[in-house]
Amino acid sequence: MLLFTPGPTPVPQNVRNAMSAETIHHRTPEFEAIFEKTRKKLFELFCMDEVVMLSSSGTGAMESAVTNLCHDTLLNVNSGKFGERFGKIAVACGLKNVEIKNEWNTPVSVEEVVATVKANPQIDALAVQISESAGGLRHPVEAIAKAVKEINPSIMVIADGITAVGVEKIDVTHIDCLIAGSQKALMLPPGLAILGLSAAAIEKIGKGKGYYFNLATEIKNQRANTTAWTAATTLIIGLLEILETIERDGGVEKLFADTQRRAKATLAAMEAIGLHVYPKNPALSMTTIDDQDASAIRKILNNDFHVNVAGGQDHLKGKIFRINQMGLIAPYEMAWVLNSVEMALDKLGRRRYDGTANKIFNEIYIKEAK
Ligand SMILES: *Cc1c(COP(=O)(O)O)cnc(C)c1O
Repeated sequence: MLLFTPGPTPVPQNVRNAMSAETIHHRTPEFEAIFEKTRKKLFELFCMDEVVMLSSSGTGAMESAVTNLCHDTLLNVNSGKFGERFGKIAVACGLKNVEIKNEWNTPVSVEEVVATVKANPQIDALAVQISESAGGLRHPVEAIAKAVKEINPSIMVIADGITAVGVEKIDVTHIDCLIAGSQKALMLPPGLAILGLSAAAIEKIGKGKGYYFNLATEIKNQRANTTAWTAATTLIIGLLEILETIERDGGVEKLFADTQRRAKATLAAMEAIGLHVYPKNPALSMTTIDDQDASAIRKILNNDFHVNVAGGQDHLKGKIFRINQMGLIAPYEMAWVLNSVEMALDKLGRRRYDGTANKIFNEIYIKEAK
């Protein structure tokens, strides 16, 4: 089965092999050396003043960012399930929240954020997805962050990059906290989350908040190449392996360029066979198609072509399907997925198969490669 969901993504064979070694103790020079190397590589990927690894899924990092960086009111941008989650976290943790809500295909505008921040001076942190995975859209995070800092530089900007870190180069100039998760663009099993932090964020964290997710405790320990609690040793070994694999494969610049071309080629291929792209500003992490036959297409992909793409959640259940573009993906796999979608349309009597999707994908992805 080809796993083409925008998280979890397939784990490369060499990474699985690296993670199959015997368990080592986390309080040993041996593991500390692995931790130090991994940390160094994360600094290169995040380009921020501090990085912290947490043994949790991505939501744990979202919660730790909110509790440690927001002391009064969180502004959360809700254009989908993950943006909505930031607001729920704030409320659950006893904070106030102000929400900007849009339909799941609509990115927030800089103007909306500016107006809301000006109208609510008690807001001390903003949380937004870079790529909102619920509908596959890209928010204009860099422009929002810049505008917010111009109004009040002490507002902490939390950017959920769980489907963006490892997908594209992110300008972190005005971002205080950038979140990544293991099972999306980083091609690892679930269970590890990473936060990049700015100097201003570290200052605001101070002594930290909470216990398990107290970022001050983690920063202190991780600067000494250890963790406050038992480290997710196996996943960190896998993380080092995948970061070294990306480097061997030509580095992050090549990964970003390949992903961008893959996104462009996939989108063009799907439009060429008459399908409609759902988000108004598609993220590079996935292509989301809204279609009356979304469920039927997914079923055919699964049963006839052994391809697993994601569906939609909540009100988009049965109305969309989402094709992953994150990670190191063999071009022949991507081409097969798109070819399968075209075959599915033929089976549904929608469009006679003529190989258009495959042709368009190859023309853009292969021919435009440098
Ligand atoms: C998957 C995802 C999350 C949540 O991560 P979990 O690992 O499921 O806790 C948060 N934000 C975005 C944008 C995601 O895609």
